[in-house]
Amino acid sequence: MDDTSPPSPPMELLHVFWHDGMLCHDAGVGVFDTGHDPGFLEILDKHPENENRVKNMVSILRKGPISPYISWHTGRHAQLSELLTFHTSEYISELVQADENGGKELCSGTFLNPGSWFACLLAAGSTLSAMKYVLEGHGKLAYALVRPPGHHAQPSQADGYCFLNNAGLAVQLALNSGCQKVAVIDIDVHYGNGTAEGFYRSNKVLTISLHMNHGSWGLSHPQSGTIDEIGEDDGFGFNLNIPLPNGTGDEGYVYAMNELVVPAIQEFKPDFVVLVVGQDSSAFDPNGRQCLTMDGYRKIGHIVRSLAELHSGGRLLVVQEDPIACYPEDKALSVQVVDVLKKYWKENVTFLKKI
Ligand SMILES: [Zn+2]
Repeated sequence: MDDTSPPSPPMELLHVFWHDGMLCHDAGVGVFDTGHDPGFLEILDKHPENENRVKNMVSILRKGPISPYISWHTGRHAQLSELLTFHTSEYISELVQADENGGKELCSGTFLNPGSWFACLLAAGSTLSAMKYVLEGHGKLAYALVRPPGHHAQPSQADGYCFLNNAGLAVQLALNSGCQKVAVIDIDVHYGNGTAEGFYRSNKVLTISLHMNHGSWGLSHPQSGTIDEIGEDDGFGFNLNIPLPNGTGDEGYVYAMNELVVPAIQEFKPDFVVLVVGQDSSAFDPNGRQCLTMDGYRKIGHIVRSLAELHSGGRLLVVQEDPIACYPEDKALSVQVVDVLKKYWKENVTFLKKI
């Protein structure tokens, strides 16, 4: 290296907040996410929000190509008092009671089973720790690698596999710690309705959600995610929904980011940016249809990082949301399926009885 060349700036580390206890949440098995066993299936689906996908995320970050740039931090439990900064006391009491009673299906596909509450508290507490770490200036880029997810959880009810709104709690902590304006960009394939609801009447939090146009899905999710759901009172104009057509893909997402999200953030001028990530916008997700690839996620990440550099001194919290379900989750499942097919053929197809 030439002695006169300027020194390279130090590489910013990604501070990952994680705790193995979050694997204790088992949403069960059934037909897709229903928890229902119709009684005649040889193989039941593992709930799509299962522990394996997060195990792989941890494994990739520990052993994969960006492992040298990661600093690991052990997450913690949230205190009940911390949960009340976003959720109502009635709702938290309902969850505590459900846990003490051995579990409850709070709404469709959303099962609080034994061990789940322990994981919920870890997810919330770890996200709060990640936010605090950045707020206190120990690092700029933190990633709350948490489950169960949170962005559908509203102040007073569970929804869509979510119990506690991890990102919402972190945003509230930022506001309570002196931040004036926080921007939340949610790229999960589903509408971040819980976070939107929590700040729907506030002009201190700009919630932007890019999602597929799925609409309301019942009492637990009354919000539509349409463009006219734009906030109320002081918050009017501070909830921006970007419903995108199925198959939008990398170029469409980048276009939406550059044409809609970037100018909105530039006008809002947040002093903290939160990126809410769900890999269910991926081309490989069985639930979403948005067809993002790794390259698309990378480009979105660059754009959000640039926004953080421009407005919040680089301070950026990334919060993990919904899954990409891994189908097949391993070779054993494929083997089981083939074996069932073969058994069926042997029993029912005359000329294949001896295979
Ligand atoms: Zn989702």
